Amino acid sequence: MAQETWQQSLKESVTSAEQLAARFNFNPQPLMAVEAQYPMRITPYYLGLIEQVGDPIWKQCVPDLQELDDSGFSDPLEEEGFSPTPAIIHRYPDRVIFLVSGSCASYCRFCTRKRKVGCADMSLSFRELHDGIDYIAANSQIRDVIFSGGDPLLLPDSVLQDLLERVYAIPHVEMIRIGTRAPVTLPERVTDRLCTLLKKFQPLYLNTHFNHPRELTEQASEACARLADAGIVLGNQTVLLRGVNDQPEIINALFRGLLKMRVRPYYLHHMDLTRGTGHFRTSVKSGLQIMHSLRGPVSGLASPHYVIDLPEGKGKVPLVPQYVKREGDVLLIHAADGSVVEYPDVADR
Ligand SMILES: *Cc1c(COP(=O)(O)O)cnc(C)c1O
Ligand code: SF4
Repeated sequence: MAQETWQQSLKESVTSAEQLAARFNFNPQPLMAVEAQYPMRITPYYLGLIEQVGDPIWKQCVPDLQELDDSGFSDPLEEEGFSPTPAIIHRYPDRVIFLVSGSCASYCRFCTRKRKVGCADMSLSFRELHDGIDYIAANSQIRDVIFSGGDPLLLPDSVLQDLLERVYAIPHVEMIRIGTRAPVTLPERVTDRLCTLLKKFQPLYLNTHFNHPRELTEQASEACARLADAGIVLGNQTVLLRGVNDQPEIINALFRGLLKMRVRPYYLHHMDLTRGTGHFRTSVKSGLQIMHSLRGPVSGLASPHYVIDLPEGKGKVPLVPQYVKREGDVLLIHAADGSVVEYPDVADR
């Protein structure tokens, strides 16, 4: 079959520090050790968003020496411990993550699954995918199946369609979600043909992963519009990244821009304790300040949950700025304008 444009784009991606050095004129030698440990790939489109060395796009996709001198945990969320079969992570009773793909269009330097995404042992066999489907079929409490990886949209249309059909054929599955960064790093992946295919599987929720307003380009916007027009409910998961987006004005512009693209901010993630990503970590305090800066001045639709995913697989917990203090039966509540309002609480019956 003829190759699609997006497959050609993947072939033309930058996958070595040497290629990158030729373009930006620096010495690739130090980065080669990083690249040996954690894979790199940058699509031509995403590379084109870099305006200068070290900018927010660069930091997200170009290997950094700091990745090598970070301790952290290989698997901070204990995903392996919650994996009954290689393609499944089952931590919450009613929903599972289904790892359908081992690769991504561009490899994010801050990835939580850095331990395996893009590595050879991550590519799942046909057998393992089918074992995953059998597991979902055998566990009737599973209502919600989240296609993840890696990036599910790196699968060819035919494979994706086959998996969606098999999962939706399971009577107790009520919804499917897809987590993908393709609209951000490979918008040409969102073809009309893909959207026609996805449209058949309702309900379908798709969470993408924009981290910076500079990623909200015309192409990305058009990709999201095609998905939204196909009836897919779009959400976004942003990771709070030091030196990339850890400022109220940036997050504010990002979330407002997403809403204009019909993408609802769903989560703002606090960085996990993943090995090799320490240089991106921010304080929880600064995350809470950013959340506080959104509440009031910006549409409520632009206030996602700020979540921390706890170590040892204890799950996601929302972190909320301190708005409420109790004094007896009176609540002291911080209003958006900075004042403190007394509010009487009703006694429990
Ligand atoms: C985040 C996550 C989910 C989905 O959580 P929601 O809060 O429903 O979006 C499911 N399973 C695992 C293992 C997760 O980490
Ligand atoms: S797209 Fe997602 S899974 Fe892939 S490298 Fe980025 S954060 Fe990791």
